[in-house]
Amino acid sequence: MVKICPRCGGIMKPAKENGKTVMVCSRCGYKIEANNTASMKITSKIEHSAKEKTIILDGQVDVSKLPITREVTCKKCGAHEAYYWVIQTRAADEPPTRFYKCVKCGFVWREYE
Ligand SMILES: [Zn+2]
Ligand SMILES: [Zn+2]
Repeated sequence: MVKICPRCGGIMKPAKENGKTVMVCSRCGYKIEANNTASMKITSKIEHSAKEKTIILDGQVDVSKLPITREVTCKKCGAHEAYYWVIQTRAADEPPTRFYKCVKCGFVWREYE
């Protein structure tokens, strides 16, 4: 998803400014505050948080022991078989996050329940 600068038509890139994400034009420097996270969400790449990474690296996610679901479609190769696992974050008000790993191509994505 590429954002185009409304001023000069250049390509806008995300940058951090005072803890907020802004879109900055690489050509003229024009800035837009990217506070609309819904439209900013790019789902093709999974960024595991540090805690999730730890859980996965701990070996708790061993794909050979994971159940397989056929209810999903891999966003990358379109296969209908994926391993899945659920990670419950410690905060009680946060829903558990379900992760999928494509059996065919190994692509990993997540879904909130
Ligand atoms: Zn511009
Ligand atoms: Zn796949």
